Amino acid sequence: MSHYRKSLLTAAAVAAMAFGASTVGSPEAQAQSRDILIGGGSVTGVYYQVALQTCQIINKHAGDKYNCVGRPALGSVFNVNAVNRGLLDFGVAQSDRNWQAANGKADWDGKPVGKLRSVFSAHPEAVLLVTRTDTGIKSVGDLKGKTVNIGNPGSGQRGNSMDLLPLYGIDPDKDIKAEGLQQGEASPALVDKKVDAFIYTVGMPSAAIEEPANSTDIDILDINSDAIKKFISDKPYYVLAKYPAGIIKGVDEFETYAVKATVVTSADVDDQTVYDYTKTVFENLDELKGTHAAFRILDPADMLKGLSAPLHPGAIKYYKERGWM
Ligand code: GLU
Repeated sequence: MSHYRKSLLTAAAVAAMAFGASTVGSPEAQAQSRDILIGGGSVTGVYYQVALQTCQIINKHAGDKYNCVGRPALGSVFNVNAVNRGLLDFGVAQSDRNWQAANGKADWDGKPVGKLRSVFSAHPEAVLLVTRTDTGIKSVGDLKGKTVNIGNPGSGQRGNSMDLLPLYGIDPDKDIKAEGLQQGEASPALVDKKVDAFIYTVGMPSAAIEEPANSTDIDILDINSDAIKKFISDKPYYVLAKYPAGIIKGVDEFETYAVKATVVTSADVDDQTVYDYTKTVFENLDELKGTHAAFRILDPADMLKGLSAPLHPGAIKYYKERGWM
């Protein structure tokens, strides 16, 4: 295929995304190709990479069968709700939110998301408290009286903030000036001194932390008090995790708790689509691992762990074929 023809096709694909796929392509291709929409998080986070890169793999390896689009979105809570309402085919969500949604807790108090289905776990995510060194904030307790981004409504980190601050005696409504920025705004706001700190639950590394670290001196603080250890002790989706000095430029070692990013879908999504998505991702896992540093540690055995909503039958079919279940 000539380069010219290829760029024409690419332009057509872009037009198809903008105006609806039905206007472009041969009738046969249209009949065969199913749109898949996957929701991630902020552009500088890792969820967007999960959405984007798994879509690239589907588009590359599943032939003309699917037209997969990975898009930025508001994060875990938004993605679970959007999947439940059929607005997304797949979404990325923290394992703690996945558990709460499946069991009708926290944001879903008394209203379990009965249709929520797990597909696989992806990378681990640390609950990060990030500040500039010039704020003098050395521990969670020092946040009193400061401006702190606790995460946008719809994000997973907002729930983590609301859990962890009271465990350090901080009332998020009274003791801090809480901001609800999306992470794409929160990282520059830290550099511009519009916030003194932010809490962000994210895979390591991510551009959202690297960008402020490249612009100013930052610290990532421990979140490992006895109250935190007690809080996570009876929750299987939390683990304590230690990160070495230098994992982010200029940052000392720190310890905090972590969750896993999970890919979820709805019972309403057909088995064949979920089967094809799961199979194509696992059969091209090495390619996925090469697309982002946070994916390097992905390992099939781990990817079937930490899933609290029931597995989707399409995923089960593939895992049984592989002898993993
Ligand atoms: N954990 C965050 C959330 O649930 C998103 C992190 C990311 O985008 O990588 O909203």
